[in-house]
Amino acid sequence: MNDSLLHALRQNFQQGNSRSYAWRRQQLLNLKAALYRHEEAIYAALSADLKKSKEEAWITEIGFVLSEISYVLRHLKSWMQPQNVGTNLLNFPSKSYLLSEPLGVVLIIGPWNYPLQLVLAPLVGALAAGNCAVVKPSELAPATSAVLRQITASAFKENEVLLVEGEGAAVIPRMMEAFRFDHVFYTGSTQVGTIIYQLAAKQLVPVTLELGGKSPTVIEPDANLEVAARRIAVTKFSNAGQMCVAPDYLLVHQSVREPFVQHLKKAIDDFYVSEAVRDYHYGKVVNQRQFDRLLQYLQEGTVLYGGSYDAPTLHLSPTLLADVRPEAKVMQEEIFGPLLPVLTWSKEQEALDIIARNNNPLAFYVFTENDKKANWWMEQVPAGGGCINNVSFHLTNHNLPFGGRGNSGMGAYHGKYSFDTFSHKKGVLKTPTWFDPAFKYPPFKGKLNIL
Ligand code: NAD
Repeated sequence: MNDSLLHALRQNFQQGNSRSYAWRRQQLLNLKAALYRHEEAIYAALSADLKKSKEEAWITEIGFVLSEISYVLRHLKSWMQPQNVGTNLLNFPSKSYLLSEPLGVVLIIGPWNYPLQLVLAPLVGALAAGNCAVVKPSELAPATSAVLRQITASAFKENEVLLVEGEGAAVIPRMMEAFRFDHVFYTGSTQVGTIIYQLAAKQLVPVTLELGGKSPTVIEPDANLEVAARRIAVTKFSNAGQMCVAPDYLLVHQSVREPFVQHLKKAIDDFYVSEAVRDYHYGKVVNQRQFDRLLQYLQEGTVLYGGSYDAPTLHLSPTLLADVRPEAKVMQEEIFGPLLPVLTWSKEQEALDIIARNNNPLAFYVFTENDKKANWWMEQVPAGGGCINNVSFHLTNHNLPFGGRGNSGMGAYHGKYSFDTFSHKKGVLKTPTWFDPAFKYPPFKGKLNIL
């Protein structure tokens, strides 16, 4: 990639072109129009990369970004206003306020599992906050990357939003060394997140890291088992389990294990056809490497349900695993596929000990009809976010921050949180000159009783 393109972004930003409300609004409208224009091409690309159905592609990718754009457009003007805050007595009669300033030229790096949503949703925040951006989609979803190239080329000028493609390990370190970005927003694995953090540190570039982890789901004996099973199944097996907030494993109270597993099997039967490869609604594993990794996990437990696969088409059916040992890889690494270990507990501490082995998950879920228990569990487990009697849907609420903590990431976005992530909050004190008492100036001797 030609470095002069990066400098053109910087120059454009420095000229102040991206600061106005009109510019920000126009970019968001351009993106919205481009998404509609390329709708069919997006469906084809997501089908080629991940065998996403049109419905899934709309709900989890195109519609998700459009909804974010609409929400931001409704609130942007008020977010851009200076925000008044209180002022202490020492500074009487000053006024204080926060100015939200754009950061500059930001880099947005995306993964392959929601290859459109996870670069465009952050981009909405970056543009709303008045930044220019470089967008780097995953090379492992090449068809979507190619459509994103068309979308950005048709919606933006190259010195506003620049799309950079290629293998991350080759492209990103070179770019981050040659050019000082003002912020890096990265979504992907914890392993590569560590590399990005180190690259950013060399030039003191702030980062948002949206990483992975093993998100546990606790089932209490008083849970509505049928509803729990349906809600877990629909999320866990969506996109063939390749979702950062999918329930990674279940912790079911032993007294309800049998009925719960029956409900889970029924939910899978209701939602999917038995031969995954023929199922319009069921995705494929992204590539051979991920497929081989998942097949290894399959050897680490007893298959309670599912377990069939079709290697040539990279399909692995929804699978429940029992008898997995804590030391097994499937309980140490993020599964990121349609395998769901079912573990049991009888005392809360047993479940907490298992969770603590993979601390700070991206999400934590608990199913119970008892509010006290739900709150107790939420307080016990440090996690990026979570749901009570639901899974993953917290990320669809614009009013909730979405992000991890510890190993699952740092920083958050969605809605106003995106605007704040891509803005600098400049604290300003404005002091009138009509009041300028002598006690504020030297000599200070004897003035302590006034202050
Ligand atoms: P990945 O880390 O392999 O790749 C993500 C991006 O990093 C890609 O654009 C890739 O080109 C780039 N990259 C890869 N190697 C690099 C290197 N050595 N140096 C610089 N850049 C490099 O992640 P992935 O496999 O695409 O995504 C799966 C992971 O992402 C899972 O762990 C999942 O939980 C996580 N994820 C998190 C969220 C979230 O919102 N927190 C969302 C989706 C996925």
